[in-house]
Parts: sequence; structure tokens; C-alpha cells
Amino acid sequence: MPEPSDLDSLLNRMRSATAPIRSVLEALHEQFLPLRTGTVADYIPELAFAEPDWFGIAVASVDGQVVEVGDSQQPFSMQSVSKPFVYGLALENHGREHLLSKVNVEPTGEAFNSIVLDETTNRPFNPLVNSGAIATTDLITGTDYAERIKNLLGMLANYAGHPVFVDNATFISERTTGHRNRAIAHLMLNFGMIEDRVDETLELYFQQCSVLVNCHDLAVMAATLANGGVNPITGVRALSTAHVKDVLSIMYSCGMYDYSGEWGYLVGLPAKSGVCGAILAVVPGKFGIAVFSPPLDERGNSVRGVAVCRELSQRFGLHAFEAHFAGTTLTDEFKPARR
Ligand code: GLU
Repeated sequence: MPEPSDLDSLLNRMRSATAPIRSVLEALHEQFLPLRTGTVADYIPELAFAEPDWFGIAVASVDGQVVEVGDSQQPFSMQSVSKPFVYGLALENHGREHLLSKVNVEPTGEAFNSIVLDETTNRPFNPLVNSGAIATTDLITGTDYAERIKNLLGMLANYAGHPVFVDNATFISERTTGHRNRAIAHLMLNFGMIEDRVDETLELYFQQCSVLVNCHDLAVMAATLANGGVNPITGVRALSTAHVKDVLSIMYSCGMYDYSGEWGYLVGLPAKSGVCGAILAVVPGKFGIAVFSPPLDERGNSVRGVAVCRELSQRFGLHAFEAHFAGTTLTDEFKPARR
């Protein structure tokens, strides 16, 4: 155990190492807080209780440092941000080939909750739209509902680094208004794409959307993906390295609703957003980014979240196809343990 004085100097050194990134995040927070466009989602009544001015930003490095500003501790339900993680779980449990036979990997160009399947194979287009997400939720293993939810929450806890819980009010709200998701699930059952336990799978899907996290958690979850599937704080493996690239590829092409193409072009990072107003982005081998601010643009992405990620990417050369050439001042501050 270090003496208190050693500990103080260690903490001071850590603080000074992360000070430059903290000031970058604080400046971005100040710059974009006055951006008051967009609307808070209200099609699930519980979401409408979110404050439009909640705004948190967090960055977590692959060597386990977290820097956060604003409302980074404000809890919110994961919504669609849960989808890539559940896809990872399904890959882990069933393998790539089986997953590809159940869910395609193509962007849709349709709304996230559209009731469309691939005409020739009946597969949902990808695991990040509702149809594909429900199909991957169906693949969560377990002898009964209780075990399946335990596996779901256990997997998310490995990413977050602590136990996670479902917000009951959001869950009830999702379940009460989830008629479209029921229609999608029944269509898939009709085509034999999911198993005949639709109600249970829908309950699980509503549960995963209602898991409470905050910006800090999401940054660590993103850093876990950046770190080859190992949580950089706890050292616990959440996903095998072999599947990390599958999850990140889907996030890159399909993670930002109908803005995914433009996002890939302008920001160039694997990411996922949700109607809660969160965006999680991954800089592979370096760090994870999370932004939370509930007002959404017409595509369903957090207005401030997109603005922050665009700015970070442009300013620090984070785009996947230029990061190798640009000077990455932001990432240098974090001195990642491994590449
Ligand atoms: N629970 C939401 C739904 O299925 C998730 C939507 C989202 O975040 O895209 O409608």
C-alpha cells in the first residue's frame, strides 16, 4: 500500500495527465450546451420525462482512465445502444455462420422500426434495427426466462464493470406501447426466423432497452470494445476478440439509423445511438466515447451527441481511415497500454 503522500502524488499525476482532455471536453460541453434544437423522444411515454438540457460527455481509455464532464452520472435507459452488445452475445453463443443465417449485415435505408425483411431470405436487414435486434435477443440462451435475463444482464455488467439493473417504469412503458415490435416479432415467427416464444423474447427485448446506465458506463463499455473485448478497468473479458470486429463493423455501417452513411463519411467511427439520446463511439485500440443529451434530430440521433463526435473526430483525426496518418493529440494524452 502506498503511503497517503505517495497516493496523493499518484492521484495528482493522474489528474495532470488527464487535464488536457478534461479541458477539451469541458470546452465542447460549453460550446454545444446552447445548441437547443431537436426534440426529446416521447413515443415511449417514460422517455418524455428526460430534461432537454441534460448533457454529459465521457471518454474512457484502453488503459482504464475515465474523464467525464457535465451530466455524465445522469442515469438513462440504454434503448438501442444495447443492440450491438446483444449481437455480440449472440455471436459468442452461436457463432458467426448461424448469426448470418438469421440476421443479415446490410444497412436498410429504412426507419429503425420498419416492418420489412429481406424478400428472398426473410432475414432482418441487420442486428441494429428493431427486427434484427429482436432476432438476436431471441438467440439469448438460457433454460428459462430467468436464466436468459440473467445472461443478458451479466453480459452488460461485464462491459460496464458493475451490476446493471432494469428501470421498471421504462420497461412497463416499452411493453405497454410496443405494438410495432410485437408486429415485427410475429412477422418473423411467421417466417420461422425466430423461435415460438415470442412473448418471452419481446419481454427480454423490452428489458434490454430499459437497462439503466450513465455516460461514464457507456464510455467504459465503448472502451471495452476498443480494448479487444476486455473491460480496461476490471480486466474482465466481455466479448472474445474474434467477435469484436464483427460488432464494430455493424456499428460502422448501421449504428446511426439513417444517418449511418453520412456518419461513416464525416465522423468515421463505429458507433451506436439510441432514442434515449445517447451515442457510444469506439476508437479501436485507443478509447471509447459516450455522449448523452436527449433532444434528437429528425434521424433519431442526439443533436449534441452528433455535434460533439463530429468535432472530436475532425479536431483529433479520429476517422478510421485517417487516424493512422494524423497526429492524435487527444489520444496521446491517454497513452494506451496496447494497440
Ligand atoms: N425500445 C426502443 C424501440 O424498440 C428502441 C428504439 C431505439 O433506441 O432506437 O422502439
